[in-house]
Amino acid sequence: MARLSQADLAELNRTFDDRTPQELLLWARDIFGDRIAALTSMQEAGNVVCHMLHSVPVPMPVVFVDTGVLFQETLDTRDRLAQQYGLTIHTLTPALTMQQQTEQLGILYLTPEGQKQCCELRKNEPLDKVRGQYDAMIGSLRRADGGRRGSCPILAVDTRLNLLRINVLANFDDEQLDAYIHTHNVILNPLHKQGYSTIGCNRCTTPVLPGEPKRAGRWRHLGPWSVYCGINPTDLDPQRAPAVDFPQDLIDRILGRSTDFMI
Ligand code: SF4
Repeated sequence: MARLSQADLAELNRTFDDRTPQELLLWARDIFGDRIAALTSMQEAGNVVCHMLHSVPVPMPVVFVDTGVLFQETLDTRDRLAQQYGLTIHTLTPALTMQQQTEQLGILYLTPEGQKQCCELRKNEPLDKVRGQYDAMIGSLRRADGGRRGSCPILAVDTRLNLLRINVLANFDDEQLDAYIHTHNVILNPLHKQGYSTIGCNRCTTPVLPGEPKRAGRWRHLGPWSVYCGINPTDLDPQRAPAVDFPQDLIDRILGRSTDFMI
């Protein structure tokens, strides 16, 4: 095994800034073959990625974490995407139901510390189950979402899952996203039309008022608006310079280097 660091990806990230999301998806599929999946939470940007997987097409499984306390509209959106776009969606679930968790640990999401623990148990630990299964995961973070995502890289290492996160929509601005959704009549979670700009668990998500930041409806009861669950590592610590362990030939393919096996 060899190490691939975030710094190693700097030049590639610069050149990838000119590529379209569809070109990035094709590159990713070409490099990672069957060891790649898309991760989505059934919000509009993730649904755009799902539409692109279907329309280009770029076949790959889709991974979805059902925390057990999602809105029914979100689960229905997952089922419509699977049916109408012909996607294989793998749903991951926490070890405990919310009722079992509450009986054992109390209502965690009412405090900032409890929220971190609850998101860890209900979002991040279920996703740990795919560790070792994939070398790359397509994400739908956009710089236009602002906050810590304002400078998110297209390629980011994920040390927890030991894979590469590929944010194919990093450069897609709000106008481009809206135009894509309108042109292709992308399946959307109906909650977006009810004022939910972003959508997570039903315990921790409310609609936003006109003029509020997009993420104002997430963990509103905890005060600060910009709170993240940690399922996207670059949300937590965009400045760190971590690395993942990959076979050398995979690193060479990612970085566009030819492997010379002759000595
Ligand atoms: S969003 Fe709220 S309910 Fe969902 S996992 Fe995080 S703290 Fe728990």
